[in-house]
Amino acid sequence: EHDLRAALPLGQFELHYQPQLDLVRNRLTGFEALLRWRHPARGLVPPDAFIPLAEEIGLISSIGEWVLRAACQEAARWPRGLCVAVNVAAPQFETGRLVGAVEGALAAAGLSGCRLELELTETALLRCGDATLDQLRALKGLGAQVSLDDFGTGYSSLTQLRSFPFDRVKIDRSFADDAAVVRAVAALGASLGMRTTAEGVETPDQLRRLREDGCTDAQGYLLGRPVPAAELPGVIGRLGAGTAAALAEGVA
Ligand code: C2E
Ligand code: MG
Ligand code: MG
Repeated sequence: EHDLRAALPLGQFELHYQPQLDLVRNRLTGFEALLRWRHPARGLVPPDAFIPLAEEIGLISSIGEWVLRAACQEAARWPRGLCVAVNVAAPQFETGRLVGAVEGALAAAGLSGCRLELELTETALLRCGDATLDQLRALKGLGAQVSLDDFGTGYSSLTQLRSFPFDRVKIDRSFADDAAVVRAVAALGASLGMRTTAEGVETPDQLRRLREDGCTDAQGYLLGRPVPAAELPGVIGRLGAGTAAALAEGVA
């Protein structure tokens, strides 16, 4: 806790970026920004190891604001067709500062709102109810896309999915091999006008089946692991049309 409080002022946070692929058009659509903490003694600490504590001790909003600014700055350097997805934690909806922070981050980076996607989990929706929905509407008013992350791992999923016009639902990676669940969620997404992203795609065989089962997008180690921003030009090159198509066909 002591170290975590100092991490932001000491500049110890960094973002890694994982590619997201459109399986319908076989192309790279952008990257998800994933937070890491470069601790002087512990090395690179993954988010699951410190975000719950950051939420508990009230640091997540300031960390989240840093993430928004850094991710928008980075995305402004990418080719125009590519978007950035940023994870937003439940407490960020409770401060009343989220919409202003998003607006500020977009303006500072000179990034168009439509190139930003915000990922939230069911927990965030459940915890804050109507206040969250109002903020989501305001975020969409800025042009941002909103997606429901880790779908299937929380509670009352179907109610949540219906309660707000999400642009995308991301099926948690624990369902990557469950054809019945994937098919049902993809069909539901399609009928509600949402894209469906399969998370945690690790093998060509999984990718082929997820595609057959109706997922419109995919993300996972097969397509690319999260990498530091410096490596993105290489990834963007590698996932150019040819490779993306080969991967989407599951033959790579
Ligand atoms: P998430 O948003 O569901 O992010 C996807 C996680 O799955 C990432 O873990 C990613 O590295 C991992 N992953 C991607 N493809 C594969 C795969 O093929 N196989 C396996 N086994 N794993 C895969 P990561 O980076 O450790 O992030 C974990 C979680 O931490 C994220 O889950 C998200 O909920 C949270 N998180 C990350 N960055 C932020 C942030 O800036 N703010 C907030 N509030 N939460 C964040
Ligand atoms: Mg996410
Ligand atoms: Mg997820």
